[in-house]
Amino acid sequence: MKKGKWITVAVCVAAVVVIALSAFDVIKVGREYKNSSVLMNTTVSADISGTQAQSVGEEIFKRISQLENKLLSRHIELSAVGEINACAGQETVITLFSQSYEEGNVDDPVSDILNIISRCQTLRQDSGGAFNPLLGRLSDLWGFGTGNERVPSENEIKSVLNGTDEPIEINGRKVKIPTNTVLDLGAVGKGIACDEAKKLLESAKVKSAVISVGGSVLLYGEDRQFEVGIRDPFSQSGTDCFATLSLSACCVSTSGSYERNFEFDGITYHHILNPKTGYPADSGLVSVTVVCEDGFLSDALSTACFVLGYEDSLPLLKKYNAEAVFVTDEKKVLVTDGLCDSLSVEKDSFTVIDGQGK
Ligand code: FAD
Ligand code: MG
Repeated sequence: MKKGKWITVAVCVAAVVVIALSAFDVIKVGREYKNSSVLMNTTVSADISGTQAQSVGEEIFKRISQLENKLLSRHIELSAVGEINACAGQETVITLFSQSYEEGNVDDPVSDILNIISRCQTLRQDSGGAFNPLLGRLSDLWGFGTGNERVPSENEIKSVLNGTDEPIEINGRKVKIPTNTVLDLGAVGKGIACDEAKKLLESAKVKSAVISVGGSVLLYGEDRQFEVGIRDPFSQSGTDCFATLSLSACCVSTSGSYERNFEFDGITYHHILNPKTGYPADSGLVSVTVVCEDGFLSDALSTACFVLGYEDSLPLLKKYNAEAVFVTDEKKVLVTDGLCDSLSVEKDSFTVIDGQGK
């Protein structure tokens, strides 16, 4: 080969290498990040755009896993909740997990968990007891999600409800749940995961993100609209939606009776329990979707509103400046004022009754 041709080949090869390297660089720097994984016994997915998308995405999955294992899960003995439950009826100084948690990027996990419990107490009061974080024993009795679901006797229900209406005592950095009770943060854990994801996104150079943790979704990013589907509660498919909400940045949580249930003697029993009766809530609703700024609140309120029913939920939503979409067992869709223009219902079998106020 002549010298000139060699130079041309060399330049071409170099160009290909440069292009390949820069492509590699984009992937490595990670301007787009998409991933999903199973955490908190549900699917967690992230779709992030921005310079640090890859690194913050990885950090988010790590943080949610830490949250589950070190703080929130009642199924893990060495989590903070596990530690509190092991000492029901006695003051607990949360210590076990904090040492290993220091490896993570969390400032003060003890104050985090105490703050979460304290917010749960407030929500419990504000919802007139419809939201109750002490129903772990009751859930276990029904066996939701265990494969051993059954309808318990009245006496069994009465026995596990004992103590659940008493307060949780927080004294400095000590906490005490009532004797006989089990702390269960299943109704708020996914929303808390969204809040933690938001903190990480805020500290990184990220333009926009959608983080979905089971029924709770964080929509992050200024100056853009997001389309969020609301699942059809009557469809057997886990992905079929009956409506779409067009929203700017916020948190959205849905609680539905379709999520965990079983049938016995022709009656369907679901996992959202009325703390007053010990039976699945029968407010005439099949799902409630709550939209607000905070993941903890959207998750807690969707559970509380499911128990309260439409009318009794309105003052609670107003207090927290939250909006909601309710679906009844007759396929009626009730929407609070703030969401009327954002909601579009795509299935004719649903009847929208909007402008109901809040
Ligand atoms: P939501 O409406 O948000 O909450 C319903 C859940 O909250 C119920 O399942 C019950 O746990 C509780 N609850 C019921 N009624 C009330 C009420 N009136 N007030 C307050 N709370 C109520 N599931 C497993 O099977 N195995 C696991 O190992 C496991 N680990 C988990 C770890 C974490 C950190 C979290 C957050 C959840 C975990 N779960 C696990 C799932 C959990 O037990 C619930 O089933 C799940 O959180 C239900 O979420 P949801 O969004 O469908 O319902
Ligand atoms: Mg909830």
